[in-house]
Amino acid sequence: MKKINENFICIHCKQAVQEAKQTCRNHCPHCFVSLHVDGDIPGDRNTECHGKMYPTAYEIKNGGMKILFVCSKCGKKHWNKRAEDDEVSQLDTRIQSYKKISWEFTN
Ligand SMILES: [Zn+2]
Ligand SMILES: [Zn+2]
Repeated sequence: MKKINENFICIHCKQAVQEAKQTCRNHCPHCFVSLHVDGDIPGDRNTECHGKMYPTAYEIKNGGMKILFVCSKCGKKHWNKRAEDDEVSQLDTRIQSYKKISWEFTN
């Protein structure tokens, strides 16, 4: 299975995002928004949803940071490791601001 890891323009903040060095990048290092493109396996690009996924929480374990992303369209949640060039000093602020967006699903 091919993992896709390409340069792209962020759909949310419109900044150019470089290919990640070590991991398969799936979120923007500036605003942390990603697109819901993966199915059950990270990197499989196996869903038709294509909703925006926003960070809603994070945790630090064993020195590594994991971020919880939630799809604004279908409500799917998944944890992802941070990338080394993520602007994590901005993460708290970002999470707070995304609480005000309108989520398309209800639960
Ligand atoms: Zn962005
Ligand atoms: Zn979705």
